[in-house]
Amino acid sequence: MTGEPLSAQPPTCGAPRPEIGMVVLQPTAFCNINCSYCYLPDRSNKHVMAQSTVTRLFSEVFASGWCAHEIIVLWHAGEPMAAPISFYREAFATIERLRPSSVSVKHSFQTNGTLVNDDWCRLFQESNVGIGVSIDGPREIHDRNRKTRSGKGTFDKTLAGMRCLQKNGVPFHVLSVLSNDSLADPDGMLAFYIGENIDKVCFNVEESEGTYVSELFDTPRAELRTRFAAFLRRFWHQARASGKVTFVREIDQAVPRMFRPEGMPARNIQCDPLAMLNVDSRGNVSSFSPELLGMKNKDYGDFLLGNITINSLAEIYANCLESALWRDIRAGTRACQGACEYYSICGGGSPVNKLFENGSFTGTTTSFCTLTQMVPTDLILEAYDRLEKTWIDNDPATIVPASSPTTAEAAALSPRMP
Ligand code: SF4
Repeated sequence: MTGEPLSAQPPTCGAPRPEIGMVVLQPTAFCNINCSYCYLPDRSNKHVMAQSTVTRLFSEVFASGWCAHEIIVLWHAGEPMAAPISFYREAFATIERLRPSSVSVKHSFQTNGTLVNDDWCRLFQESNVGIGVSIDGPREIHDRNRKTRSGKGTFDKTLAGMRCLQKNGVPFHVLSVLSNDSLADPDGMLAFYIGENIDKVCFNVEESEGTYVSELFDTPRAELRTRFAAFLRRFWHQARASGKVTFVREIDQAVPRMFRPEGMPARNIQCDPLAMLNVDSRGNVSSFSPELLGMKNKDYGDFLLGNITINSLAEIYANCLESALWRDIRAGTRACQGACEYYSICGGGSPVNKLFENGSFTGTTTSFCTLTQMVPTDLILEAYDRLEKTWIDNDPATIVPASSPTTAEAAALSPRMP
């Protein structure tokens, strides 16, 4: 153990008590491929997180008393399988040894799938790891952006990885970044998933982040909203009709947020201090949107709140509460609360998108929230209105997924990363 002694008490009297729901860990910044829209600035760096950093981090997290009863540990930001299997065996054992019985932990990988083999599948099964594979659709769409470092398409390798997961009985979902071409072809996208026996699908619309500027996000917002709504409406209804694609994240995560018990707030873990704890391979810590980790900005510097190898979690939390980052994110959330009719579903949006799209955390509407919050909400209400209340009363399965994900599964499916 290094650094300061563990501290379990909130450092600031009267401050909101954090509730850690997700820890996003970067085992290595390195990625073995080179997607054209990747926002990660350090993806050639092969440094791997030290085991002492894992130990220190989870000693602090579990001793804090701030964990939700169920936390997701998402290994991401770089290609997680670029670190060796032995790294994870040791890290998982450490986390399990430190874990209090009152907290359950679900490990999750977001991967490009190109390095999956039988040995990895064994680890995933033994440790019940949730897997998200990034694949953008059929070969001609996927290979346009997801390329090797020498510029070749990665479709064949990703497909081979998915088939290896299927052969070994490892469940997974896919995450597809939608571009101009895929947005225009919901039926073709659905046919691809059905043809590959993929039953859980998440979409990200290609966006401008870091140094990447998306053509799609240059589209006027109203036009993009109309196009995405047309895509999602068609995809959702056809997927339901097929009975083969049973989970469409954009819809199936919005339904329980919309039809939740009276008085239950919609929590947005990107807007609460430390609710998402984001840690890079050298122990640097940030919070809120994970994409902020590793970026720099003239107003906020590097967005870091401390380093877990030298700071206690209580110090990091105190830094967060005093930061301009938190001040401005909170102002943005309050602005949303006062101005937006979707706030009760959304909870304040994605800070990183507010910064990239509007130049400030303090604003409200972005193209991102228009697509991820407003469009799904509108489509669900549209379906509800069309069939009237009897639809839900008589056949809830029509709108609610056959097997709703647990909180942990839903959180694991939620990060919108490439
Ligand atoms: S939908 Fe957009 S404007 Fe509305 S609460 Fe969410 S982030 Fe704010």
